[in-house]
Formats: sequence, C-alpha cells, structure tokens
Amino acid sequence: MRSVQISKPKGPFEIVERGIPEPGPTQVRIKIQACGICHSDSFTKEGLFPGIQYPRVPGHEIAGVIDVIGKNVSTAQWKAGQRVVVGWHGGHCGYCESCRRGDFVTCRYGQVPGISYDGGYADYMVAPTEALAIIPDELSATDAAPLMCAGITTYNALRNSGARVGDVVAILGIGGLGHLGVQFAAKMGFKAIAIARGKDEEELVKKLGASQYIDSRSQNAVEELNRLGGAKVILATVPSGKAMSEILGGLAVNGKLIVIGASDEPIQVPLPIFIQGRRSLVGWPSGTSIDSQDTLSFSVLSGVRSMNEVFPLERAAEAYELMMSGRARFRSVLTTGN
Ligand SMILES: [Zn+2]
Ligand SMILES: [Zn+2]
Repeated sequence: MRSVQISKPKGPFEIVERGIPEPGPTQVRIKIQACGICHSDSFTKEGLFPGIQYPRVPGHEIAGVIDVIGKNVSTAQWKAGQRVVVGWHGGHCGYCESCRRGDFVTCRYGQVPGISYDGGYADYMVAPTEALAIIPDELSATDAAPLMCAGITTYNALRNSGARVGDVVAILGIGGLGHLGVQFAAKMGFKAIAIARGKDEEELVKKLGASQYIDSRSQNAVEELNRLGGAKVILATVPSGKAMSEILGGLAVNGKLIVIGASDEPIQVPLPIFIQGRRSLVGWPSGTSIDSQDTLSFSVLSGVRSMNEVFPLERAAEAYELMMSGRARFRSVLTTGN
C-alpha cells in the first residue's frame, strides 16, 4: 500500500510502499478513501508534539470503509463494508480519572491518529473501535473527512457554548474551521458574524449564512461587535494569539471567547473587562466518536458542507503547503481512489 510518511521532525513528506497493517484484537482495518489536511498535522510534520515516534503517517480527518475487523470486535456493531470515519480523538484508555468520569476526550492517555499511531495519508490504517463513527448515506467520503476535525471542533464547541437561539456569535477567521463555524452557527439559529481580514470572503460568508461580515483590516471589529451589543460567543479559529487578544473587547457581558485555533503566541487578557463583565476565555478540544456521529447527522439535516480542494494522495506535500499558506478554499482533502 501507499503511505505518505514523515521520517523525522521537519523532514519532507515521503511516499513509500508499506505492508498493509493487520488490526489488533479490538481494532478494525480501514481502507481509506479520503483524508482532510488539518493545521495540526504540522505537529507531526514539524515534531511539535511530545513523544511522536518516527516514521509517522499524519492525518486525523479520515473517511473510508472497514476492511477487516479484529478478533474481539463485536460484530453486532461493526462489520466489514461499513463506511466509517476517524477524527482527532483516536482512542482512550478507559481507566484514567477522565475516562472513569466518562470524559473520554480529555483522557490522560488519549490517542490521536497521525500522532500516536499512523493516520490517514495512506491507503489503509488500523484504529480502535471507540474512535469510529458511521458515515450517513447522504455524505461522500470527501464530504465526511473534513467534518472529523474542522467540523466536529466548530460544531461541538458551538453547541456546548451556552449561546442561545438568536444570540450574537462571532466566528474569528474564515478558513477550514471558520467556513464551517459560520455555517453551523447560522444553522443552529445564532446571529452569525464572520470576521476576517480583507474583502475577499464577504460575499461567500453571507452565502454560508453569516448575518454580517466584518473586515478587520478596514473596520474596527471590537466596535462593530459592540454596536450589536457584543458577542455572547466568539469562536476563535484563527491560529493567532494576537488576533484573539485584539478581539476580546468585543465580548458581551457573560461573553465567552472559545479558543479552537492552535497558536504558540500567548493571549493578552485585559483584566478589568473580565472581572466587571464576567467574561471568560476557554478552549475546546474536538469531541469523541459520538460527537463525530452527531456532527455528521447535523450536517445532513442542515446541509452544512465543507468546501474542499481535492488532491490525490501523491500530491500530499502540495496540499499541505496550500493549507499552511492559509490560501486553501477552504479545506485541502486527499483522496486515494479506493
Ligand atoms: Zn483515559
Ligand atoms: Zn485537526
């Protein structure tokens, strides 16, 4: 089979032939059809995640078909031929404190495909059954894959944000995550406000359901949000601590900035607005396989889709560069032809 691997931190993408992996007793083997490219794949590419063993195949937005099931996998639930996805949450231990509380996504020993084990830039992979969700018939593999990180993270953060129907919810940054965040926010019944730099995306985000577009290059985004009474939630998808710091003044009383875009820059917090207005700053980590299932179901129900630029597996390096440049419209997705 073909695999696209990184053999050392900061090394290039290498297309190699490897043996097809065998599933362990509680795993399945997936014949991969599509894999989205996420900014967090740079953890594997650049060696930014502690403990990665190389060579490693990146990719945690995986869609395909179960090919073989492990000998202890319940056939009541899983069978060869089922169309499945795997996202960022690629497995949990079942015995740490978080797992004992049923909070699997914060498992102390949580696994991530493409980081803890080989991921989706390949023809096949193996994954534990707790990481699987079923793809609804209405969605193609290419539709489903980007919903497994960009989709679930925006959907799950918004539905757990505490915002209520009609509330002002701002989406900061219109890229792979943001263009889905705008759609989910609008379909959930929020007043979705899209914030990005420049005029390019204005027409598109309105088509995606945004009530208003704020060009933070030519407008003062904080003033614009305050004109609307402030945002109950700002979903910060942009990978920039600086951009997140600059928008904090746009939060309403009891407003919440939810960080989902990864950045190594710190966020600077002006303390008075947090104390006076009971505002808060939180993060949100994707979700588990049942959240993946809900993301797919809601996307079918509401018509939310990722807009993708599709590349064959062999062009992974090019697709990754496009994503990293911020020029992808809006998610780069690899397909295997399987
Ligand atoms: Zn655990
Ligand atoms: Zn991701």
